[in-house]
Amino acid sequence: MLSNYILYLKFLDEKLSSFFERQKPYICCQKGCALCCKNAQIPYSKIEMDYFMLGAWQLDLNTKKIIANNIKQIALEKMNYSGKDFRYDCPFLINNECAVYQYRGIICRSFGLLNIGSDGRIKVPFCCFQGLNYANVMEDGGNKISAEKFKKSGIKEEPAAFHTNYEFLTDPDFEKMFKFSFGEKKPLIDWFIEQQSVAEPANKDNIDYKNRQ
Ligand code: SF4
Ligand code: SF4
Repeated sequence: MLSNYILYLKFLDEKLSSFFERQKPYICCQKGCALCCKNAQIPYSKIEMDYFMLGAWQLDLNTKKIIANNIKQIALEKMNYSGKDFRYDCPFLINNECAVYQYRGIICRSFGLLNIGSDGRIKVPFCCFQGLNYANVMEDGGNKISAEKFKKSGIKEEPAAFHTNYEFLTDPDFEKMFKFSFGEKKPLIDWFIEQQSVAEPANKDNIDYKNRQ
């Protein structure tokens, strides 16, 4: 099943890379920019976690210890959090770089584009309001394209929105098409907390995800 998911990822990566290429004049993503890995919920399905852990297991012991400590810290914060949607900095983000980049999940690959939400409305990536993606043509603090900014930018093609929201990209149609199942979905941190698998960063398997297939 994992091999079929990898085929889906290949299909997805090709699509996303063409979308990002098309939106290049509006995109600021670069190595070291990791705002989207912070203060986030980071939904992951079971199959994404299985693949993700293939990368996590290959990390050196020191990196595993750092990540295990990050997870422990976030788990404590979550335990003391009484609000509705807990947000956290990804425990796999080290020095503003993803420790498991090749194995990252769908949300991590697709974030940053203007996307069409499940309600049919166009969603702007939040980093636009931090002066990043699409900020060169969006109204200041607003949610629409500024005709003046667009004209000044000299860019020929208007920004386009794509079906790249997480719900769409994990739609059952893709499961049928590629013959795998996404399985349960929950925030990345919950996969670790609920397995109680990173209690002490003491041995080589301190990132010990027990549900591997
Ligand atoms: S999506 Fe936004 S926050 Fe994330 S890397 Fe790109 S520019 Fe930075
Ligand atoms: S897995 Fe990597 S890309 Fe995804 S949120 Fe964490 S650090 Fe960022």
